[in-house]
Amino acid sequence: MTTELRVAPQRRPAGPRRPLASHNRLRAGEEEDVDPEPALRAIAFELERAGAPTYRVRAFRRAAQAVRDLGPAGLRGRLEAGTLRAVAGIGPVTAEVIEQAGRGEQPAYLARLRSENPPSGRDGLRAALRGDCHVHSDWSDGGSPPWEMAEAARALGHEWIALTDHSPRLTVARGLSAERLADQLGLISKLNAGLAPFRVLTGIEVDILDDGALDQREDLLGALDVVVASVHSRLRMPREQMTERMVAAVRNPQVDVLGHCTGRMIAGRGRPESDFDADAVFAACAESGVAVEINCRPERQDPPERLLRAAAAAGCLFAIDTDAHAPGQLDWLGSGCARASELGIGPDRVINSRSAAAMAAGR
Ligand SMILES: [Zn+2]
Ligand SMILES: [Zn+2]
Repeated sequence: MTTELRVAPQRRPAGPRRPLASHNRLRAGEEEDVDPEPALRAIAFELERAGAPTYRVRAFRRAAQAVRDLGPAGLRGRLEAGTLRAVAGIGPVTAEVIEQAGRGEQPAYLARLRSENPPSGRDGLRAALRGDCHVHSDWSDGGSPPWEMAEAARALGHEWIALTDHSPRLTVARGLSAERLADQLGLISKLNAGLAPFRVLTGIEVDILDDGALDQREDLLGALDVVVASVHSRLRMPREQMTERMVAAVRNPQVDVLGHCTGRMIAGRGRPESDFDADAVFAACAESGVAVEINCRPERQDPPERLLRAAAAAGCLFAIDTDAHAPGQLDWLGSGCARASELGIGPDRVINSRSAAAMAAGR
């Protein structure tokens, strides 16, 4: 039995790529959809974009890795012998995807996901955005390594992302010690050499401690391109203390973005907003040039509209952030753009409409 195979190279060459969002408009048979490894990753991406839980996505990313590990010759051999399912990390569903892609067909699973969840629009404010200031990797509580987040962002048409993994105190999210953060900076510079002109900006989502201090060494914070400061602990602190805490953080010259300011959760069990004097906090943001984050995660949508309105009236800058913990979540910018546009916030007030160089130069 001979099967005509089209097998992905071990690493994709750098260079201009078609945005993933255009996949929907692809005719079946176009190159990436019918390479087994990119097809598996595209399925994972579509599932994440649609908000699927991690366990549904993991099998596809694991299978993509298994295909990469097999190499082109190994994969061809397995397909010809019909022994794909014996490979660790490949199950019945993923094997079918690989077989279809291996025959040069667009996998039916992928076609179905794309028809169920058409690509998000790229007009208005969304079209002006060049990057994302708040992205996690598997160095903290994200699901994918930095290179996979970066490649997905580049495929979406981003020019840059800031990698903002958590700080040490957030142990539940495997926050990065000073040593691990320094290691990550080394990795990013290597990664950027292969991704240019796309750029991964260095960054952190640093915890705002109870007294408003930041949970990372000053010299390291000073070396980063983007510092997002967020409250993750003692969210029920009394109003006056919480206000002082947040004002102190945004007045810290290292801080660029105030992350998900109320901490609310509007899905699942939910979580109420933290209580603080929003006028005082937003005035401090406006004075210090700190952008108020418009967090696009569906369960956060933080700040709520009345506070977004207050921040806009205070003259604040904004950062429309996905807070992505998986590649497909990088495509969540649309909801934040819609919320900002409704209030008349244009690209001139949104820092992620800036170039990577302008972001790195700061403010
Ligand atoms: Zn956070
Ligand atoms: Zn985050």
